[in-house]
Amino acid sequence: MTSKLTIRTSESADQSYPIRFHSTFRSAAADLLKATRGRPLFIITDRNVHSVYRNEIRNRILSERPGSGIFVVPAGEKTKTRRWKERIEDWLLAQRAGRDAVVVAFGGGMVGDLAGFTAATLNRGVSFIQFPTSLLAQVDSSVGAKVAVDHPLGKNLIGLFSRPAAVYIAIPLLSTLPEPEYLNGLAEVIKYGAILDRSLFRLLEKSSGPLLRRNRDLLATVVRRCCTLKKTVVEADEREHDFRRILNFGHTIGHAVELLSDYSLRHGEAVAIGMAAEARMSVRLGLLSPGDEERLVTLIMKYGLPVSLPRRMHPHRIITATLRDKKSAGEKIAYTLLRAIGEGRTGHLIGPGEAERLISP
Ligand code: NAD
Ligand code: ZN
Repeated sequence: MTSKLTIRTSESADQSYPIRFHSTFRSAAADLLKATRGRPLFIITDRNVHSVYRNEIRNRILSERPGSGIFVVPAGEKTKTRRWKERIEDWLLAQRAGRDAVVVAFGGGMVGDLAGFTAATLNRGVSFIQFPTSLLAQVDSSVGAKVAVDHPLGKNLIGLFSRPAAVYIAIPLLSTLPEPEYLNGLAEVIKYGAILDRSLFRLLEKSSGPLLRRNRDLLATVVRRCCTLKKTVVEADEREHDFRRILNFGHTIGHAVELLSDYSLRHGEAVAIGMAAEARMSVRLGLLSPGDEERLVTLIMKYGLPVSLPRRMHPHRIITATLRDKKSAGEKIAYTLLRAIGEGRTGHLIGPGEAERLISP
């Protein structure tokens, strides 16, 4: 293991959990086996990840732990449903997964959210481990204890806060991630720099070449830094009363754009567009300097992500969609905006008319 972080929230110290960073899959798998000491491991993964890692999973984990098993679900957000939760439950029960079972999410954020939610209610909660394989999952979704499935009325509508027992991060897994998925995760990385960490932002400005080539040492530094930032946020406010909303930068407009595109825009692309729009709002409200807005837009573009609102989406439609998201038509909603690079601020209440004017090109 190269290093470790521990997430401790004030609610209960005995429920703290480690994030363990590894430079090889082999050492992460060995660490997982050691920590779970003979208990049966039930791995949940998706078809894409399975097609790449089936041998490694079999040789390094399953064959080392009798009584373990693997369940492969279709890849993609469409699988993050109550129906698939039920299927996983049926499988776990057929495998006689009891109180000592450990459910392991081996995949991106979709698998992490689905498997984590399933583990949280099986036998009133069994041990759950995150083994994130996408950049987004390594820097964002695997840390912070939110698990959920989607509903036709919206994403993540059914779920809860449920902490994992541990998170195992093996950086080399990122080398097989398809390019668009990699960029998707980089949008969240840029977000961390923009809201919380000026020196991370500078590193991203300086090192776009090696980072786009997925240099492992640099990725190890960047992923660990993002996890440290998320740790700071969730330790202060795990249940999103206020400070955790700092992570929503780019997401209020981003979610609306994602929804209006019928999900043809990826989450990271929508968040990139959302960050550019919310930086523009920040400038127009006199919070952010135009120079800092320019730096953010330039950085997003350097990583091949979009910055302009899609032409077919009128600002009025976008703002209406943000209201639907919050079920509060006509009311002001709270935006997270920027005061400078590395300084996000939550709780800027803005009404729909003003928001429309502020995001207009
Ligand atoms: P994903 O899990 O759908 O993975 C993206 C794609 O990459 C999939 O096709 C997957 O099969 C593939 N993939 C993953 N790792 C791979 C690897 N190493 N090699 C090859 N292919 C690989 O999507 P995501 O972007 O990882 O996560 C998005 C999900 O995370 C959404 O459901 C979102 O709601 C959720 N999320 C949750 C939180 C939270 O706090 N719980 C935070 C952010 C996002
Ligand atoms: Zn996001």
